[in-house]
Amino acid sequence: MIKKLSIRQPDDWHVHFREDEMLSVITKHSSRINRRCIAMPNTTIPITTSNQAKNYKSIIEKNSNHKNFEALIPCYITDNLDLHDFSNALKQNLFIGGKLYPVNSTTNSSLGVSDIKKIFKVFEILEKEDKMLLIHGEKVSEDINIFDREKYYIDEDLQIIRKNFQNLKIVLEHVSTAYGVEYIKSNKNIAGTITPHHMLLTKKDVFFDNSINPHHFCMPVVKDEKDLLALRNAACINNTKFFIGTDSAPHHVREKSENLNTKAGIFSAVCSLELYTEIFDEEDSLNTLEQFASINGPNFYNLPKNERIITLEKNSWYPPEFTEEKSIKIKNFFGNKKINWKLL
Ligand SMILES: [Zn+2]
Repeated sequence: MIKKLSIRQPDDWHVHFREDEMLSVITKHSSRINRRCIAMPNTTIPITTSNQAKNYKSIIEKNSNHKNFEALIPCYITDNLDLHDFSNALKQNLFIGGKLYPVNSTTNSSLGVSDIKKIFKVFEILEKEDKMLLIHGEKVSEDINIFDREKYYIDEDLQIIRKNFQNLKIVLEHVSTAYGVEYIKSNKNIAGTITPHHMLLTKKDVFFDNSINPHHFCMPVVKDEKDLLALRNAACINNTKFFIGTDSAPHHVREKSENLNTKAGIFSAVCSLELYTEIFDEEDSLNTLEQFASINGPNFYNLPKNERIITLEKNSWYPPEFTEEKSIKIKNFFGNKKINWKLL
């Protein structure tokens, strides 16, 4: 039985660092593990300009606990982006790409894209600059069930984007369905991030008769067992198209309530790499963890792989139930639950 595992230092290609006091409390948890993180731009005032990106990057890096930690910022795409600034910022690597939130699909997405046809210029620029389009792939409409949003997004919007921009590289973020996994596997120029919680929870862990568990509620919502198994399979078999994106997304406990008006997001940064390792161990795939955690992401993003080696040990521990500091209190995913792997 493997007791210790050494791998290249990972990166996290999807994290929410939020702002102000929250940012200062949580950043050290992600920089504890990762050398680079993509910091999602859906802050209260979304990151839509190069100046905002520069400021946000420097605030996050100042709050990290490692000198060489790097925050990478995608531009929050709106219907009315300043295309000149966007294009220059991509050229100067101030933006790693563009993040597409369909309007009202998740936290702080009210300024998201209302119709993809309005942002064809943005796609054109990303394709020309060989930069990534990151997509929150959910089609939001009154007549689409919350569990079917990913499928509808793929069949409708994503098909249109791919047909018109065949060389555009796309990351379908937090893939949550077997359908999404199959789509990524069978198409060119598209990869996917997978969260730990989508490989650990199903809808039975979230939705009850008259209430929900707000700490397991996220967007996209977790789905059925067949989806969970497809995601585990995609992450653990040696497939170059999937990599880490924890979507660690903290909310103060007072913003969580047991109904559907609760804020969506699961905070996993305290134990995310350990959870991924546990999943790979359960799937008898520890030999492919490094590929998923530290190689596939940089390869898809055309960035160098990290040189530093980190070591995990099989040694059980219990993450604290909450992250509590200053006036912040966040429920930790897997708080008070046993985890069998620990980063040394
Ligand atoms: Zn997210």
